[in-house]
Amino acid sequence: MKIVAVLPPVVELPEPSPGYLFNVERAYNLHEYFASKGHEFVTLSDAKESLEPHLADMSIFICSPFYPAYLTKELINRSPNLELAVTAGIGSDHFDLEACAARNITVAEVTGSNVVSVAEHTVMQILILLRNFIGGHQQAVNGEWNLPKIGAYAHDLEGKTVGIFGFGRIGQRVAARLHPFDVKLIYNDPYRRKDLEAQLGVKYVSFNKLVETSDIITIHSPLTDKTDTLFNRDVLDRTKQGSYIVNTARGRIMDTAALVDSLKSGHLAGYAGDVWYPQPAAADHPWRTMPKQAMTIHYSGMTLEAQHRIEIGTKAILDNFFEGKAQKQEDLIVEDGEIVSPSYKIK
Ligand code: NAD
Repeated sequence: MKIVAVLPPVVELPEPSPGYLFNVERAYNLHEYFASKGHEFVTLSDAKESLEPHLADMSIFICSPFYPAYLTKELINRSPNLELAVTAGIGSDHFDLEACAARNITVAEVTGSNVVSVAEHTVMQILILLRNFIGGHQQAVNGEWNLPKIGAYAHDLEGKTVGIFGFGRIGQRVAARLHPFDVKLIYNDPYRRKDLEAQLGVKYVSFNKLVETSDIITIHSPLTDKTDTLFNRDVLDRTKQGSYIVNTARGRIMDTAALVDSLKSGHLAGYAGDVWYPQPAAADHPWRTMPKQAMTIHYSGMTLEAQHRIEIGTKAILDNFFEGKAQKQEDLIVEDGEIVSPSYKIK
């Protein structure tokens, strides 16, 4: 059986990192795994061209959202042997899920693998924006001491309204971590979680109320037809003057140009996230140079601890496949010709 995985190329690190698993060489220790089973395992770092010759005979395809291969309907239909598409991480929007369902390809991801990592990164980015950390840090390394230039735009988080869009595993963990900051937490999600509201100190609101009353909006929904470019010009115009957005979910949930314009006009006070579209982001992607931002490259969910959990979870999905066992229901996005994940089947 041929298994193909797309991973970043090997680069020289300034210091050794034995726990690092995320490149074509380490490949989540899957080289050893597949060799022990007698399968052919091909790792590629350029999905665009080098995937072509493998489409005809690959049975399993593995990629991560950090360094995705966009498996379009066209590519899926040219992969007649493909049975299983694995997301080594969380968020399977890089696969055309309808096309996978139509071809009866199972799509599975490592649910929960990096939810803590992303929740921590989100809290960090909220604080970085509010405290005007980037400006303060730049002065520290540039030999400056211009206090008003920083303090005039720095805020406390305490007392602010934080709107959580998408209240799943990550959204809930963000709420739990923000609760002790004495903020007002509101959320929107197609599934209201009354059972968690008192415990996490969150209040359910409509999408419009969340947009119009939040001082900080933090996005944690999947990328679906419903959320694709949901934060367009109209929605951004309706956010509170001087508010902030943090997006560790998916870049395409934002309208790229409208976001840049909102920051330039001074309507939004800041934006931070680590997700872009497409990825890897081009060197001239407008979000790299837009003002008032604290962007990172998509690494929030790939801490060393998360990489280790992704390795274990990916191998568990593969073990189930090879042993003919049922996958864990929570890991399944597409199964038996249907989108089965509750988070992806909202129409
Ligand atoms: P989850 O499935 O536990 O939660 C997603 C939540 O979004 C669910 O509660 C779902 O009902 C809700 N949702 C779906 N459609 C919605 C809509 N139209 N409006 C509002 N809410 C909607 O998933 P999770 O583990 O919390 O991850 C959420 C997303 O975060 C993933 O789909 C992925 O895109 C992204 N993610 C990013 C990273 C990263 O490294 N930056 C890592 C993991 C996940």
